[in-house]
Amino acid sequence: MNKGDLKTALAGVMKGEVSDDAETLKAASRDTSLFTRMPELVVYPKDAADVSAIVKEVGRARSAGASVSLTARAAGTDMSGGPLTTSVVVSFTKHMNRMGDVNVGRTTSYIDGYAVTEPGVFYRDFEKATMEKGLMLPSYPASREIAAMGGIVANNAGGERTLRYGKTEKYVEELDVVLSDGSQATFKPLAPSELEEKKKLQTLEGTIYREMDALLTEHAGLIEGRRPHVSKNSAGYALWSVRESKEVKPLYFNLAKLICGSQGTLALWTKAKLALVAPKEHRAMLVIFLGSPKHGEGGLAILPEIVRRVLEQNPESFESYDDHTFTLAVKFLPQMLAQMGFARAARLGIDFIPEAVMVASGGVPKLILMAEFAEDTIEAADAKALAAKEALADLHVQTKIEKNERESEKYWVVRRESFNLLRKNLHGLVSAPFIDDFVVPPSCYPEFLPKLNALLAEYKDNMVYTVAGHIGDGNLHILPLMDLTKEENRKVILELAPKVYELVIRAGGTTTGEHNDGIIRTPYLPMLFGPEMVALFKRTKKIFDPLNIFNPGKKVGGSFDDIKRDIIKGV
Ligand SMILES: Cc1cc2nc3c(=O)[nH]c(=O)nc-3n(C[C@H](O)[C@H](O)[C@H](O)COP(=O)(O)OP(=O)(O)OC[C@H]3O[C@@H](n4cnc5c(N)ncnc54)[C@H](O)[C@@H]3O)c2cc1C
Repeated sequence: MNKGDLKTALAGVMKGEVSDDAETLKAASRDTSLFTRMPELVVYPKDAADVSAIVKEVGRARSAGASVSLTARAAGTDMSGGPLTTSVVVSFTKHMNRMGDVNVGRTTSYIDGYAVTEPGVFYRDFEKATMEKGLMLPSYPASREIAAMGGIVANNAGGERTLRYGKTEKYVEELDVVLSDGSQATFKPLAPSELEEKKKLQTLEGTIYREMDALLTEHAGLIEGRRPHVSKNSAGYALWSVRESKEVKPLYFNLAKLICGSQGTLALWTKAKLALVAPKEHRAMLVIFLGSPKHGEGGLAILPEIVRRVLEQNPESFESYDDHTFTLAVKFLPQMLAQMGFARAARLGIDFIPEAVMVASGGVPKLILMAEFAEDTIEAADAKALAAKEALADLHVQTKIEKNERESEKYWVVRRESFNLLRKNLHGLVSAPFIDDFVVPPSCYPEFLPKLNALLAEYKDNMVYTVAGHIGDGNLHILPLMDLTKEENRKVILELAPKVYELVIRAGGTTTGEHNDGIIRTPYLPMLFGPEMVALFKRTKKIFDPLNIFNPGKKVGGSFDDIKRDIIKGV
């Protein structure tokens, strides 16, 4: 089927629009990964019925031998290439951006209410609506100002508060989905008797329930054995989460937990019911300066002990940034402050004087750790920060308590802005997320971090990088900036990533905690999970999407050649 026929066919079955103008296609050819794929068409469904009609039409074309497929796109901020395709993009932000009801009401020990949303709602608008009722989705990503709910659910996003509250999958209660034959279903928690009823359905939904239940039962041991034992994971299909229920008995079966994090490869979701929490109102921060220049990386030996003791006080977030980040932040301070209003910039400028002195005197610590404690009163938050400080007393590390959010602001500015700073100030270099999101157990830091740093140092002529991340749960973000016009730099991507992942896997970690597999990490799934588990991922894909209509090459079937071919070759 040629592009013109496909465009006419799709326009004929839906209320929304189909576009193939050059500007639209170009915009959809990029996300925030290091890849580009030029789509043939972008479709804008108006509702779930439109999504269903699109899927049916593409299924017909595919059955007739056309190599057409559908890749969902929400805000397009994915760092892995998840929303990129050479075929048809299903774009949700234009029309399917309606916020549903937000209801307050405590249902379990951690849920204080629910919100209903479509995938095209931007997180910033979602939060505005939930905060009107005093509630929030605590797994929001750092890209909270630019990301939409579509990708937050489909990537199983996490962020600074995940340490205390968990990732998005914990909050995905129900998903309305369009399956690969165009039929619609609602995936939600099913009690055993309800599951048996679903398995009787003579539809694709019934087949999915029958075959997934059989797969999970038959391979329960393997699945549990290969489940990543780190605090967060977005790699592979979360087969271990479908039957998970810590709070509810009898054991519930919820396929929404599998759709979450599956990057639009199993179904397209059209409506979500998400659990929410009431955030704590007051915050205090313990800042820990680790590894003085005198002690070098030797200072890192006590890092796991610091993490363990601080975690005992249940911080809401426990973040970190390294000496490279610190030095760059001070160097680019004027540019950073210039983006802010005068009063805030002046206040922060003064707050940063001690940091400027540290840089000038060569006294920059190797790592800065920020443990933030959130409680209902400022006194309770301060008390937690103080208790954490006291717990570290015999380790003789330099610490400082920031008694409220106004005082801790400068640390958050550096942590959140460091990547943007790099990106904006090093012209000719592009951000190359390829080892951007691995997770290791914090207990391995003394062994792991020096090896990682040594490895990265080997490539210092090819890239500029900083290490920042969620130190409390072992999720480190390395976002190198590179000149990708040079072949030798592009080669580094496929050379360095397996070396880093080897270290990560040997330490018991995972390749991605939040950002997901996409084009960049799908080929590493066999290395992480082994062939038997990868075979289960393939079987799962086949059960849901036998014609491979949804986002081919992500999670299943992606190759190193895809990476080589689609890497951007310039700025
Ligand atoms: C500066 C920066 C910081 C970031 N920080 C974080 C972070 O802290 N944590 C984190 O998790 N991520 C982070 N990200 C990555 C990204 O922003 C998030 O994963 C975000 O949740 C993606 O949302 P999106 O709406 O942009 O999704 P998109 O990029 O549009 O899509 C992401 C994936 O979801 C699929 N998808 C979208 N809509 C649907 C649907 N309706 N049905 C099925 N599949 C769908 C797409 O096909 C794609 O595979 C960051 C990115 C940037 C640029």
